[in-house]
Amino acid sequence: MSKIARQKGQIVTRFAPSPTGMFHVGGIRSSLYNYLFARKQGGIYILRCEDTDRRRSKKEYEENFLEVFRWLGLDHDEYYRQSERTELYRGYLERLISEGKAYVSEETAEKEGDREEVIRFKNPGTDIIFDDVVLGEIKFNTAELGDFVIARSLEEPLYNLAVVIDDHEMGVTHIIRGQEHVSNTPRQILIQEAIGAGRPIYAHASIILNESRAKLSKRDPLVRPALEYRDDGYLPDAVLNFMALLGWNPGTEQEIFAKNELIEAFSLERMQKPGAVFNSEKLEWINKEHIKRLDPEMLTKEVRKAISERTIALPQYSDARLERAAATLTERITHFGEIRNMEETGELTYLFSAPSIENTDILVWKDLRGSPEGAKVTATHLTEVARLWGAHVGAWSAEDLKQLIWEYAERSGRGNVLWPVRVSLSGKERSPDPFTLAYILGKHETLLRINDAITLLSHL
Ligand code: GLU
Repeated sequence: MSKIARQKGQIVTRFAPSPTGMFHVGGIRSSLYNYLFARKQGGIYILRCEDTDRRRSKKEYEENFLEVFRWLGLDHDEYYRQSERTELYRGYLERLISEGKAYVSEETAEKEGDREEVIRFKNPGTDIIFDDVVLGEIKFNTAELGDFVIARSLEEPLYNLAVVIDDHEMGVTHIIRGQEHVSNTPRQILIQEAIGAGRPIYAHASIILNESRAKLSKRDPLVRPALEYRDDGYLPDAVLNFMALLGWNPGTEQEIFAKNELIEAFSLERMQKPGAVFNSEKLEWINKEHIKRLDPEMLTKEVRKAISERTIALPQYSDARLERAAATLTERITHFGEIRNMEETGELTYLFSAPSIENTDILVWKDLRGSPEGAKVTATHLTEVARLWGAHVGAWSAEDLKQLIWEYAERSGRGNVLWPVRVSLSGKERSPDPFTLAYILGKHETLLRINDAITLLSHL
């Protein structure tokens, strides 16, 4: 991935994670805003791995954030690793030193007796004023910062220096990041001025708060590794939608956005200053809305991803049957991980293997239960349903199946007829309605299960 030629006036944004830990869900927001703004403006979106801290940076963490962005579909146009740019930083450092804007300083290390050299920035101590798109004008007296350290050695630049050199070299026009970086900005502006770099536009996104309105700390249980959301079956677009609204609003009533709609709607001006509450229930709601908007094929794909080998190994499992079940299975869930709970509680088993009904009594509607007569009547009802459905040659849809037996059920008492049909298909007292079940199972299996139930009843 090589550097793209910049057009005049073209917007360039970057997201610059440090690979020093698992990428957390909060980090999605800054990457998203940079991505959305660049895409909306026909700009360039850079992903930059800030791995100058050799001790704390790990390849697996870099892999981790790359995986997050692949999952979310936040594709970048250029990719850089700071560890591969040491020569460039060294050049800048040498120049700053030779111009008297930085100097090598010998100091006592924290470890007793050790002497070490660091490179300090010669701070002119000027007042820095910058306009933040979100926060307004920010004024900073930099004298109090002293001559801050910008590198451990010529080969080991520190964060503030590397960031400024890179943003300059890469032609970054807008820096969108979290408010925790506001306090770094004056240092970075001083360095910009020393190397003769222009000043990008800053937009510092609001603080993220937990549900008790406290600043979200790294240890807050809400702050989970981003990939856990993937593994729990949240949809990428739903997560983006939720994160986008955490510190930005479209200025309209619209709450549900696909990624392309976010690109269309996004503007820096609508990023907001007050802290934004990370509300898990809102995430659930947004995810549910996105699930409702999936077409049948996508819905099936997600359900297929969520189920385990255990379900796939069931004797009657087929992708076709799963596809017919997908809408019903997802009616009550807010994320696909809940399908796994349904597996645990056996709510999926009967869809793919014939139920074994041990207590035959449950086939009989409560009004008729407990007498040989009740079992006989129930068997008669099941026989009639099997006859009506068996003779049917048209579409095998829940609606048609209902039409075919509705009149008979009304006449004979709905519970008396529909209850045993449902239980013969599911083996359970609780399950979806019999028409939906029959549709999912298909004609052949439906009739087999009803006939099995009739046989059981005749032995009562
Ligand atoms: N590497 C910094 C971090 O992970 C971000 C730098 C920036 O956005 O300026 O916090």
